[in-house]
Amino acid sequence: MKKIQMVDLKGQYESIKDTVNTSIQEVLDNTAYINGPQVHKFQKDLEQYLGAKHVIPCANGTDALQIAMMGLGLKPGDEVITADFTFAATVEVIALLQLTPVLVDVDADTYNISIDAIKKAITPKTKAIVPVHLFGQAANMEAILAIAKEHNLYVIEDNAQAIGADYTYADGSKKKVGVIGDVASTSFFPSKNLGCYGDGGAIFTNDDALAHTLRGIVNHGMYERYHHDVVGVNSRLDSIQAAVLNAKLPLLDGYNQARQQAAAKYSAAFAGHTNIVTPVITGTIDSHVFHQYVLRILNADRDGLMKHLLDKGIPCAIYYPIPLHSQKAYADARYNEADFPVTNQLVKEVIALPMHTELDDEQIKFITDSVIEFLA
Ligand SMILES: *Cc1c(COP(=O)(O)O)cnc(C)c1O
Repeated sequence: MKKIQMVDLKGQYESIKDTVNTSIQEVLDNTAYINGPQVHKFQKDLEQYLGAKHVIPCANGTDALQIAMMGLGLKPGDEVITADFTFAATVEVIALLQLTPVLVDVDADTYNISIDAIKKAITPKTKAIVPVHLFGQAANMEAILAIAKEHNLYVIEDNAQAIGADYTYADGSKKKVGVIGDVASTSFFPSKNLGCYGDGGAIFTNDDALAHTLRGIVNHGMYERYHHDVVGVNSRLDSIQAAVLNAKLPLLDGYNQARQQAAAKYSAAFAGHTNIVTPVITGTIDSHVFHQYVLRILNADRDGLMKHLLDKGIPCAIYYPIPLHSQKAYADARYNEADFPVTNQLVKEVIALPMHTELDDEQIKFITDSVIEFLA
């Protein structure tokens, strides 16, 4: 059996080596390292893939979130509601911009932001909601859009983990996640579903005026050379990373399908096990692109299971071990433990199994057998 990786970047590279190398070589030959033709091509192709009017490439997914909030003109003191159970980047940029983060609980089935919790958290100062499509599954966007409409709030989708996922509306129509709210961010960090070979990110919007603002912000607030109209940042996707992404974007749907197939095999093996809750897919199958495959382990020793798997050479991880509201940097007297029953429980129960595009059946069987063997 091949050695099991949490994310098999090497195996994936081996399978696309020639295309990627040729694509990178073009950058080296024309030396347009910044804003080269590869960046423009990637922007256009991603706009078409997503059905987004505008894609603004930038340096990473954290910058993308920050720039989106700057572009919307959010001001210190504005309250921004986001999930307590996610990666810290989301709350970090809210705090950095001196906006007020309002962390709320998530749903036990999808791990995505709870609609009831959002409703309870709204005040006259609330200006935006940031749903995170966690682990690759679309959040409940129609409910979020309805709340946003009623209270006149922006919706900023953190799409770092779900690029390529479809959201299905109640009427059956579909859109790619990331083009549903006012603006969205994504990350091309190497382990993400569409990963480059370094850092990268992008912002998407269908709003022409906002897109214009965002294009200036990523480039020092310049709309005309050496005229700085707004305070900006320096956040660029470099041409070498764009070259890698140009080689990989045509493969994204196939990659997401490989993840969905691996997830289906995991879930089939665990079906009916009393100690295991497998991922719940609320929409159609294409609403979840399995950035991570995360189980809940009930009434059993989750940490012991983790050690058992690691001892057998099976990488696994806890996403996320500590609720954001309990992190030193984001703790606040405003928060009440009773408001986070689900997140407080999930951090004790979740475990992520290896998930990538190169998992084979032998590896999946070894992983599922090893989990069941420990819990038996
Ligand atoms: C990865 C990630 C980010 C940040 O992306 P970077 O490119 O690493 O800055 C933001 N939000 C979520 C939910 C992520 O998973």
